[in-house]
Amino acid sequence: MIAGPCSAETENQVLSTAQGLARQGISLLRAGVWKARTRGGCFEGVGVPGLAWLRNAALATGLPVATEVALPQHVEAALTWNIDCLWIGARTTSNPFSMQELAEALRGIDIPLMVKNPIGADLGLWIGALERLYSAGARRLAAIHRGFKQFGNHEYRNQPCWPIALKLKELIPDLPIFCDPSHICGRIDLIPKVAQKAFSLGFDGLFIEAHSCPQRALTDAKQQLHPDQLGALLKTIAEPCNALSSNKAVAMDPVQPGCF
Ligand code: PEP
Ligand code: MN
Repeated sequence: MIAGPCSAETENQVLSTAQGLARQGISLLRAGVWKARTRGGCFEGVGVPGLAWLRNAALATGLPVATEVALPQHVEAALTWNIDCLWIGARTTSNPFSMQELAEALRGIDIPLMVKNPIGADLGLWIGALERLYSAGARRLAAIHRGFKQFGNHEYRNQPCWPIALKLKELIPDLPIFCDPSHICGRIDLIPKVAQKAFSLGFDGLFIEAHSCPQRALTDAKQQLHPDQLGALLKTIAEPCNALSSNKAVAMDPVQPGCF
């Protein structure tokens, strides 16, 4: 169970959210410090100071911490601050040049990496991103299904495509796969049914946004749960297994082009 705010906003917000989530028994704290906003002029993250806040929250709660990296300099800063786990966002997974640069920056570094699906429903692009990291030596890999962008107004902010996620699991059986119901749903009332669906399909865990004061969040306010709401949700769904901490190396045979 991975949870935390969309963005690190202040030291106190990171700490209070981490403490609330630690009480709910999560395994890993997430927070973005560099935010890839679709349009400029919005809050774009606090940058490096947020890494120090994450480190302090880790010290205070005992939780390992994760942040998103999109550029080689993000990787360097995150490693300097001993961030325990990194994830690659949907926009970055969509760009093979960015993925190759990240793979080079991560070459020879043994850190758990989680790769979100690309923006569009392209399984090849998702596998390609994982393969680039694998070719650079990454073995503690996981995938995150956060849904796919569609044109127009729909019930979900990003439409889940369960067959694509299950196909990925079929092609790379050792790869843990998480569901991010927050970015799929875009609003909290839809989260329980999506989280339950992911568990009923055999997903390994959830990657979910939670904030100590969701209504004041600077990003993705409508989709973030209060830690107590997350606790209540977790009581209603099956126990997640602790896939990333299992430390099992992922074995990836080259996937044949054209097989999906
Ligand atoms: C996030 O997890 O905060 C995020 C930016 O997600 P995505 O890459 O799925 O849009
Ligand atoms: Mn978000």
